[in-house]
Amino acid sequence: MITGITGQDGTYLSRFLLDKGYRVYGLVRYNAAPNISNLDYLGIEDRVKLLNVDLTELSDVIRVVEKIQPDEIYNLAAQSSVGLSFEQPIATYEFNTSSTLNLLESVRIVNPGIKFYQASSSEMYGNIDKDKLPVTEKHYLNPSSPYGVSKASAHMITTSYRQCYNLFASCGILFNHESCLRPSKFVTKKIVETALKISDGSVNELVMGNMNISRDWGYAPEYIKVIWMILQNGIPDDFIVCSGEVCSLEEFVCEVFTQLDLDYKDFIKVDNNLYRPLDLDIIYGDNSKARNTLNWNYNFKLPELVRKLIEDEIEYSEWKNRHFHN
Ligand code: NAP
Repeated sequence: MITGITGQDGTYLSRFLLDKGYRVYGLVRYNAAPNISNLDYLGIEDRVKLLNVDLTELSDVIRVVEKIQPDEIYNLAAQSSVGLSFEQPIATYEFNTSSTLNLLESVRIVNPGIKFYQASSSEMYGNIDKDKLPVTEKHYLNPSSPYGVSKASAHMITTSYRQCYNLFASCGILFNHESCLRPSKFVTKKIVETALKISDGSVNELVMGNMNISRDWGYAPEYIKVIWMILQNGIPDDFIVCSGEVCSLEEFVCEVFTQLDLDYKDFIKVDNNLYRPLDLDIIYGDNSKARNTLNWNYNFKLPELVRKLIEDEIEYSEWKNRHFHN
């Protein structure tokens, strides 16, 4: 059972689990027809079973967990944008925490044997002293955005259920991971999408906010494997999932434009309105626990990551053109 099945990670995880022979149930909101375009793109929309649920209503969550009787729950649903969380702090906090609590409580009531995965985030750590980098699982949580606070809270609820009720509840603390299935408002997707449009002449500028921030970026389809591995580990535990590499946003932009034979300096326009009220300067992680305990192997460096994102974006936009113009 996957919450957030229509998002980037939910879609890649569904394909991964289907390929392993799993039956996959996805929970989607009630109010509108679910946005299945990601599932459609990967050709799996008919292979997953979607059920409506309100994750903020305990009785509704219990109903659906009783109905599905899942072996594993992957809780990926969230208001996942840091930027939007500054605009909608209450909605972000309330949804991201109450959905997690309701799912854990449902597991405790319906079947404490269900394995539970929580999608935690590097944003829980906030701004870290440079001499404390790279971050390990032992670092204290000190979030600096409403999104980070909501994820820290959901993370602590999950570890608390593990300790208090002996549930198999584990957290993957993922650092930024990217793909063509990200919504266009996310910065790496926006950069790759816009750079390709500049390259074909249909757009002539890329508007950016603060390009001095530095992040640990990874390739989403590769990070999905470790999400599954975390629930196959002998004991429930928390794992940082990251590349261990760091680069500034400006270096990322430069790499994308260079691979398209363009000089990024000719096309960047900086808009101060895109600066966040508070942003993390630099963060990168230490993935040795995931490597050593789960035998996870990830070796993408920046040029390879950017090459994959460009190739995937070209394929994705061709599909979109065929799909929506036919
Ligand atoms: P995403 O693409 O934004 O997908 C979010 C999913 O959550 C979508 O399926 C969305 O459904 C669902 N959702 C949002 N608000 C909801 C609500 N009120 N009720 C029900 N469903 C709701 O996110 P992602 O990149 O796949 O990330 C997956 C998880 O990992 C998230 O929890 C995110 O916070 C966390 N995470 C992501 C990253 C990253 O770099 N991608 C890093 C660390 C942690 P709709 O289609 O209906 O909107």
